[in-house]
Amino acid sequence: MPTISRRHFLSLGLGCGGLLLDACWQTQGTANHLDRAKVIVAGGGFAGLNAAKALKRIAPELHVTLVEKKAAYLSCPGSNQVIAGMMPFSALAHDVASGATKMGVNVLASTIIGIDPQKKNITLTDGTQLPYDRLILAPGIDFRWDAIEGYNEAASKHIPHAWKAGAQTLLLQHQLRAMRTGGIVAITVPDNPYRCPPGPYERASLIAHFLKNHNPRAKILILDAKSRFSKQAAFTHAWQKIYPGMVEWISSEHEGRIDHIDTRHRIVHTEFNHHKADVLNVIPPQRAGKLVELADLQDPTGWCPVTPLTFESVKAPGIHIIGDACIATPMPKSAFAAQSQSRACASAVVALLSGKTPTHPILINHCYSFVDPERAISVTGVYSYQPSGKMLETLSSGETAPDGDWRQEGIYASDWYGLMMKETFD
Ligand SMILES: Cc1cc2nc3c(=O)[nH]c(=O)nc-3n(C[C@H](O)[C@H](O)[C@H](O)COP(=O)(O)OP(=O)(O)OC[C@H]3O[C@@H](n4cnc5c(N)ncnc54)[C@H](O)[C@@H]3O)c2cc1C
Repeated sequence: MPTISRRHFLSLGLGCGGLLLDACWQTQGTANHLDRAKVIVAGGGFAGLNAAKALKRIAPELHVTLVEKKAAYLSCPGSNQVIAGMMPFSALAHDVASGATKMGVNVLASTIIGIDPQKKNITLTDGTQLPYDRLILAPGIDFRWDAIEGYNEAASKHIPHAWKAGAQTLLLQHQLRAMRTGGIVAITVPDNPYRCPPGPYERASLIAHFLKNHNPRAKILILDAKSRFSKQAAFTHAWQKIYPGMVEWISSEHEGRIDHIDTRHRIVHTEFNHHKADVLNVIPPQRAGKLVELADLQDPTGWCPVTPLTFESVKAPGIHIIGDACIATPMPKSAFAAQSQSRACASAVVALLSGKTPTHPILINHCYSFVDPERAISVTGVYSYQPSGKMLETLSSGETAPDGDWRQEGIYASDWYGLMMKETFD
């Protein structure tokens, strides 16, 4: 696997951002209809907010409306730290409207309940219909509640998933604090694709850090539907060196997949075994946020196929889908990837509204995971659009080596977090 250095990555990242913006600014001279064009962005998370802001940055005269159902956004990045008591819950909350409003985005606090791709309008909960020339959907994920026998939305009220930040984050945190001495924490992990591929293993590491200090005879069991996982070498190294004997990873090759869960007794039955937990964290299989069903934009996998040149749906012209909800393989579903896609999509939307051909995007993902409060590991990928296959292709990738400087990565990870929140919400 080819690797890239941090300096090379940063130069690519900054360079590509610059190229995209240059291309877009060039469209402005001929964009004689942009001041009459309407773009609606649905979802004010990492993908949607960054798309709305990028549209206004590229074409200030464009009418951009962002619709988000929640007044305060609760960030999943950082939520593993909250579970492990390293960060206050309040640090996850961000105001959706203020930063975007400052840039001239019209922010509406409402839920979209209808999409009409033919008439090109959306309907809000109060019945208001808003017309659009281009619609960008960024609804994140929902859970496939029927995927694991015995586990459903009602069960999640006492067996948390904590895979959307909020009450679930606090429920898992409280259960860990209240666990008996020497108890077992079991985390079930779904097969790909799902939100934040390294997230479950970061969670296991940070829970191990908490338990090492508060309940050192406790153990963590990871029951995985996969046979390999993101940043596996570095995570495995961390568990052996920092938390010896505390974290056990059980792959589907070893025990088979989860057969069913007895939520009353907190027992996970795999095909060949069963495990009783004191604290059970079930991360269910996922799909695109339900919003996409309003225009039937998902495929049988539950995710939305798009052409990555513009992130336009292959099922409904004029509707673009970005972030966790879209299929942008081989990009993972992360906040960083969502932000990268949002900028490429905004650039393409402005080009299309101006009658121009969108430029071929170069997209980046850079994903950090903490293994304790100070040390982090990362994985990086650079992706380009392949016109022949209408696909993205990995140009280069790399990840932290087991003997890398993890403390320095920890500093970079904290910097990234601060920067990401500022760029998205300020
Ligand atoms: C534990 C954990 C840790 C993570 N850590 C990292 C990390 O360190 N780095 C990283 O890059 N990524 C991380 N991620 C992944 C990251 O959270 C997601 O990839 C990211 O949130 C995706 O952004 P999005 O905008 O697609 O979706 P979301 O952030 O979920 O935003 C979707 C928004 O759409 C709104 N919405 C949905 N339907 C409607 C509707 N009908 N009307 C109006 N609004 C609607 C929702 O309210 C929501 O605000 C982590 C995830 C988890 C679970």
